[in-house]
Amino acid sequence: MSEQSYHDPREAFEYLLAHGAVRYDREGAVTHLPCSLSPWKAPAAFVEETQQLTPFFTDLYHRVAQDDDFLHTELGAARMVDPFIARLFHALEHEAEKKPCLYLNRNDCMPSLLEDGKIWPKQVEMNLMASALGEASSIVTRMHRFLGQHQEVSLLDNRAGEGLAQALAEGYRALGGQGVVLFLVPTGEVSVFDQRILESRLVERYQVPTLRATLEELGDEGELRQGQLWFRGFHVSIAYFRTGYAPYHYPVEAAWTARNLIEASSAVSVPSARTQLANTKLIQLLLASEENLQRFVPAQAAQRLAKACVAFSKLDEPYLEHESGKDAAISNPDAWVLKPHREGGGNNFFSAQMVEKLKAIDEAESEAYILMEKIRPPVFESVKMVDREALPCRCVTELGFFGTAFYPEPGGASAFNRSQGYLLRTKDEGTDEGLVLGGFSFLDSVALP
Ligand code: ADP
Ligand code: MG
Repeated sequence: MSEQSYHDPREAFEYLLAHGAVRYDREGAVTHLPCSLSPWKAPAAFVEETQQLTPFFTDLYHRVAQDDDFLHTELGAARMVDPFIARLFHALEHEAEKKPCLYLNRNDCMPSLLEDGKIWPKQVEMNLMASALGEASSIVTRMHRFLGQHQEVSLLDNRAGEGLAQALAEGYRALGGQGVVLFLVPTGEVSVFDQRILESRLVERYQVPTLRATLEELGDEGELRQGQLWFRGFHVSIAYFRTGYAPYHYPVEAAWTARNLIEASSAVSVPSARTQLANTKLIQLLLASEENLQRFVPAQAAQRLAKACVAFSKLDEPYLEHESGKDAAISNPDAWVLKPHREGGGNNFFSAQMVEKLKAIDEAESEAYILMEKIRPPVFESVKMVDREALPCRCVTELGFFGTAFYPEPGGASAFNRSQGYLLRTKDEGTDEGLVLGGFSFLDSVALP
C-alpha cells in the first residue's frame, strides 16, 4: 500500500482522543483504541445483505427466547453439565410475568466466497448481550470521513451509537417514562468510555435518567417493591447489561441474586435470562437448519437466514461420512472451530489446540461444546494504528450491524425492529480471535464502491 493511501497516524490519534474512541491501558492511562488508517473497500452486496439480515435474526431470536418447550428440550442436557446454563435456568424460574422485550444486539458476519462467485455474509454469531463498541466504531467512521475529506471515498454512514441510545430511550418512554435505565457494568472495565458516551447521550439528548451498578451492588442493595425493582432510591425501568455474559462476572452469590431480582421484577432486562439462553451456541447450531428455522419464521425468511449459516456439528453426533463431529474436526483441524457455550471472546479453540482439546473432552462433557465450520474471509491489505504507530498488514474482517427492537407484548408484533450502524473489526490474517480490547483486532469502517 502506498504511503499516500492511508491517513496520518498523528491526526488519527488526535481525532480519536478528541472524540473518545479510547480505552484504559494496563497502567490505567488513557490511550486510543486500535483502528485502521484506511477504510475497507467492501463488496456492496455483502454489506447490504448483512444489514438486511439483522432485523430477521433479531426477530428469530426473540421468537426462540419465548419458546419454553424449545429451550427446555434443547438445552436440557447442556444444563446438566454446564453450571452457568443451569444458573440461567434458575434465574428464569424467578420470572414473574411476561414482560415487554427490548433488544440491543449485534449480528457478526464474515464475508465468504460462495460457489457462484458472490461474496456473501456467513454469520459468526448474533450477540444478544452487552454488544459493545457501537459508539467507538461510529467515531472511527467519522475519523475516516474527516481525515479523508479531500479524497473521493464513499463511506457507509455509521450511526451505531445513536441507534443504541434511541432504542433505550424509545423503550423507556414506551414503558411509561418512569425511573431510571440501570447500566450493569463489570468492575475494572477498560472499555468504559464506549459506555460513558451512550450513557451521556441518553441523559443529554433524550433526558432519560441513568445509574450504573455492578451485579454485586444490585444484588446487595436492590429490592422488590410491589413488583418493581428499586435501587438506591430509584425505580429501575430498564436493566441494561454490559456485563453478565461470563461466569467470572458472578464472583459472589449476590451477582446471581441481582439476576433473580431483575427476573422477578417488572424491570425490562436487556437481555433477559431467556434471551441469554436462546443465545447459546447450541441454539445457534440448531438454528442453522432450515427445518428448525421454519418452526420460528416463514419459509422464505428461513431460506434466507439459512444461506447465512455455515455447517455445525455436535461433538458426538455423526457428521456426513464421519462417525462423529469430533472425528470430522480431528481429521481436518483447519476447517473447524471448537466453541464452549461462552461469550466474550478468547474461549474458542482453533487448529492444533482444538485437536488437543477435542481429545481431552469426555462423553459427558461433549454437551458443553459445539463445532462450527471455519469461515474463510478474503484477505486484503490495510494499515492499522496500534499504540500510535502505523503498521501495514494483510487482513481479514468481520462486519456486525447493530440491531434494536422492542416488543410491547412478547407474543405480539414489534413496535420497532431496526438495523442501524455497525462495528467493522479487522484483524491480521492468521489471527483466530477477534477481540479489539484483547488486542487481536482493530476498528475499521466500510467504504463502498
Ligand atoms: P464469543 O462468543 O466469545 O465472542 P465468537 O463466536 O464471537 O465468540 O468468536 C470469537 C471470534 O472468533 C470471532 O469474532 C471470530 O473472529 C472468530 N471466529 C469465531 N467463529 C468463527 C468461525 N466459524 N470461522 C472463523 N472465525 C471464527
Ligand atoms: Mg462474539
